[in-house]
Order: sequence, then structure tokens, then C-alpha cells
Amino acid sequence: MLKIEEIWQKACVVLQHEVTAVSYDLWIKSLEPLDYENGTLYLSTSSETAKQRVLKLHEQQIRTALTEIEPEIKDFVVLDPDEKENYLNKPEEVTEEVNKVTPLCNFNAKYTFDNFVVGNSNRYVYAAARGVAEHPFDKINPLFIYGGVGLGKTHLLHAIGNYLMKTNPELKILYVTCEKFTHDYVESLKSSKSQANSEYREKYRNVDVLMIDDIQFISNKTGTQEEFFHTFNDLYQNQKQIIIASDRHPKEIASLEERLRSRFSMGLMQDIQIPDFETRLAILQKKAQQENYSVKHEVINLIAERCDTNIRELEGMLSKVCFYASLTGKPSATIEDANEALKDVVLTTKQNLTSDRIIDCVCKYFSVTKDDLVGKKRTKEIVEPRQICMYLIYEMLDLPLVSIGQLFGGRDYTTVIHAREKISEMIKENNRMKVAINDLKSMATRT
Ligand code: ADP
Ligand code: MG
Repeated sequence: MLKIEEIWQKACVVLQHEVTAVSYDLWIKSLEPLDYENGTLYLSTSSETAKQRVLKLHEQQIRTALTEIEPEIKDFVVLDPDEKENYLNKPEEVTEEVNKVTPLCNFNAKYTFDNFVVGNSNRYVYAAARGVAEHPFDKINPLFIYGGVGLGKTHLLHAIGNYLMKTNPELKILYVTCEKFTHDYVESLKSSKSQANSEYREKYRNVDVLMIDDIQFISNKTGTQEEFFHTFNDLYQNQKQIIIASDRHPKEIASLEERLRSRFSMGLMQDIQIPDFETRLAILQKKAQQENYSVKHEVINLIAERCDTNIRELEGMLSKVCFYASLTGKPSATIEDANEALKDVVLTTKQNLTSDRIIDCVCKYFSVTKDDLVGKKRTKEIVEPRQICMYLIYEMLDLPLVSIGQLFGGRDYTTVIHAREKISEMIKENNRMKVAINDLKSMATRT
């Protein structure tokens, strides 16, 4: 077999012709080959958002390209930075015998309840997670946590895991991402040995606590949904604890079977919200303390003001600022360090932000062309991005409604009002829309 770097290079050449240049630059380029194991190529990427976009838009194309270049590769897995760290730190494979006493999975030691800052946005979800950790197999089963990217879902799952391992070390606790669950299932199907299938079932059904992260990836995977349904029933009937995290409400997971949807709502379904300013401040202070960063209070304030939708980005900004301060040898990070470090991530001022820029971002995000976006097509794939784009231009720029209509092929201003109202309503009710609007706003306001 070729080296993984060569395989990936070849795959990139193929993919360059298969996906749009924008998509290639934005998502494919951010991938790097990390490892190969048992037919699976592991790729790492720069952020969780990049991972989600690349899987949503190009999963099939990447898989086909890889398999064609190297038939030994049956599948691939994309790891975000945290997962990459966990992957690289995973213990060496152990023999069967030792396996029996080794925990089924590793939890990130930093993700504990103590390190989780509680505020208005996450009070209930924290209480629910803690409730499950303190009284598993009791009332909250399954616990279904949902909310936008970078808001602490994975942290809470690991916190439950860490807590249970300490308090009930004899428990068999398995944490997997939905991708891993899918991957294992597909592998068991591919294998001609019926043993593989029973090993798979054994792995997932012979546990006391099963945690599945990012369950939204189960959308459109009928076979995996079926298998998960049976796994779920089996565990539930045997009073085992099930904990699930998702970046959206089950209603928003495309083509999710109704019977699974209803299983998910059998226990407690709890959302996790975007943190308010005070919670963001507290998170930054805690992080600074944990990492022994010395930062002036006004710097923490500035970061908390600038970054308001994603805690991972918040943390990233803090470490960048402190890194800059360390380069200049200062004892603690100052506002100047913050301005320098955040130069490329700070919000652009209103003067810099243009309707063209917003249109560009919407086109990239939904992989549609500008001609289509501002043109006459009325298919669903175009109408929604168009309405989102009108909404964003209205919200982010001081442009009159009539001028916005003109940007979209001379449409009437009432069309703009309709789009604005529709999207505002959807944001309130629909997490998918909320996430898309947040993603787009941060994309547009980055230099
Ligand atoms: P999600 O799984 O929802 O995308 P994560 O659990 O990976 O998000 O959280 C992203 C980062 O933000 C992690 O480093 C996590 O520790 C941190 N984080 C999230 N919420 C909190 C919180 N309330 N207190 C402290 N850190 C948090
Ligand atoms: Mg997560």
C-alpha cells in the first residue's frame, strides 16, 4: 500500500475536479492524513465546523476517491482537534486478556463537572448530566443533549464518564461518536465472518452505559438507524443507561426514523444554549486559571465581547492572545496583544462588511452560485439560501429594503420583508437555522 500522504495527495487531485473550488479551498484543504488502521484512513481537520461541513458536503466523494486510489481503504474518519488529541493519546492496543480489565474508552481528564462553568445558558443541562452521573439507571434515561457547535456537549458526556469511572469503576462505559458506531456497523457487515457481527453486537449491547456523541450524523443512514434502534431497545429493556448528544433537535435531523425520534424523547431532552456575556467571562477566567495564563481583566472582557457564539472559539482566542504575549516576553497579556492576536478574527467594522461579502459567504456555505442566488430559480435548494442572504444583509447592513430587493434581480421590497420575517421565525423555532445563521455571521465578519 502507498504511504497515506501519497494516497491523500492523489485523492486531492481527484477531489479538486469533483467539488467546487470554494469547497475545495474551504473544506478539503483543511484535511490532513493522520493514520491508517484496519481499512480506515484517519484524517484530521482544523475545527469541528470544518469537520461537519466536509462530512455533510463531500463524505461520499471522499470515500469514493480514496477507495478508487487504494482499495484497501474501506472507510475514513475525520477527527476534529479534540478528537485528534484523544486519538493520539489513546493507549496501545492490548491483548484480549488485559482488555477485560481495561476501561472501554478514555475520557478527557480536563472535561469534568468541576471544570464546567454553569450559567443561565447551561444550568438545566448541567443538572441533568450531573443527575445521570450521580444516579445512573434511574429516571433520566435516555438523556438527550442538544445544542450548537462548541457549547459543551462533548464536555458534559466526558464529565459523566469521568465521574462514573471514579464512583463506579466496575461499570462498563462506552463512549463513541456516531461515526465510529456507523463505521463499526459497516465493518461488521462487510466481514464475511458471522463472528464479526456478533462481536459488534457484543461490543455495543454488553455495556452498562452507552454514550453516543454527534448522533445527527445518523441522518440518511438507514441501516445504521435500524441497528441503533435495536441496540437502544436492548439496552433500554435491560435498564442500561443511554446518553446521546446532538447538534440539533431530533426533529431537525434529516430523515430520522420516527421510531428513533420517539425513543430519543422517552427520557429527558435538554438543550444547551449560547452562553451570555457573564458566563463567557467566567469561562475565560476559569480557563486562564487552569492554563496558568496571566491576562489583564480588560483583555478577558474584550474576548468575551467579541466571541459570542462558540466556547471553543472563545478558548482558542484566549490561548492565541496569551501566545502573542509570551512571544513579546510580557508578564501578562495586554490589550495590544489582544488586538494583534485577534486582528484576523475580530469583527470587521460595518464599513468593511458589504452585501457582496455576505452574498459570497452564503454561496460558499450552501455551495450555490451567485447567479442562482440572485436569479430567478425557485427550487427549494436556492430559495432558502436566498432568503437567508436577504435576512443577513438586512440584519448586518444598514441598507434600505428596496436596495436589498435590487441586489436580488430587482425583486420587490415586500419579498425582502417576507424573507426577513420567515427567517426570524425559523431562527426562534429551528436550531438548524440558528446554527446556520450564526455560522454565516461569523464567516462574514472575519477578515
Ligand atoms: P460541543 O461538543 O458542544 O461542540 P465541546 O464540549 O467540545 O462542545 O466544548 C468546546 C470547548 O468548550 C471545550 O474545550 C469545552 O471544555 C469548553 N466548554 C464548553 N462549555 C463550557 C463550560 N460551560 N465551561 C467550561 N468550558 C466549556
Ligand atoms: Mg462535540
